[in-house]
Amino acid sequence: MGQPVYVKCNLCHRNKTHPLVEIYGFSWVRCQHCGLIYLNPRPKSIEELNPAVMETGVDYFTRKGYSPDKQNYYKKYLKKFEEYRETNRLLEIGCASGGFLYAARDCGWQAKGIEYFEPAARYGRDRYNLDIIAGSLLEIDLPREYFDLVIMNMVIEHLEDPIGALSKIHQLLRPKGAVYIHTPNYDSLTLKLFPAYKKFFPKDHFYFFTVKTLERALKKIGFQIVWKKTRGFEFPKKKGGAPFLKRQPLRLLKNLASPAVSILGKGDRVRVLAEKGRAS
Ligand SMILES: [Zn+2]
Repeated sequence: MGQPVYVKCNLCHRNKTHPLVEIYGFSWVRCQHCGLIYLNPRPKSIEELNPAVMETGVDYFTRKGYSPDKQNYYKKYLKKFEEYRETNRLLEIGCASGGFLYAARDCGWQAKGIEYFEPAARYGRDRYNLDIIAGSLLEIDLPREYFDLVIMNMVIEHLEDPIGALSKIHQLLRPKGAVYIHTPNYDSLTLKLFPAYKKFFPKDHFYFFTVKTLERALKKIGFQIVWKKTRGFEFPKKKGGAPFLKRQPLRLLKNLASPAVSILGKGDRVRVLAEKGRAS
């Protein structure tokens, strides 16, 4: 791996940070000015961060994304965006091998995807004839004010320049189009209880958002928040977790805690829908 590089805060461009936690030898820090959480210093590119993860990920996400359960879930989820259907054009960024695009096409959307990992993009194109471009959002030419809806499902945390990506998404959306983002939430009850829970700091993440920082980023670019929700709570399964709790009570606790964290906005994952204003 090459020499790690120090980066400025992607959201406010300052460089004063507080250290948060060190995982796998990497330091996670929080910007003192805007609160954005990121890896610093970090490897130059995502391939250097964890080359193996993309190789294994493609198979895993392909199987999972095309399973009947997941397809039904996606179709149900797509209904939430029905009111944005005007030009009928949807773009998914980081679509892997296209499970979500497949469901969207079934629902009548003209669905396009961008996937950084070429073998995954090829799989969806060759096997399911999906419209997937291999590459990175910031380097691909797409028409402006074109899409009704842009989807980023567990992707923004992997990007080297998430604010640049949001800015480009803003250009690609038609006026009153919407972006949907789903990403891990640092400000979660799970991490309050287990701040160094390794599973929550995978080797291929560069950023860790909270509801606040995600909102701040979207507003900075000119989006308006339509809704935001958080969900999920869990106990670490291995050592360092809660060894005194046996499985059954653990599940009970989890079931009790999950609705509470959603209400309090302390879930493990955050989902935000934001709209591009007319005057932009
Ligand atoms: Zn900042």
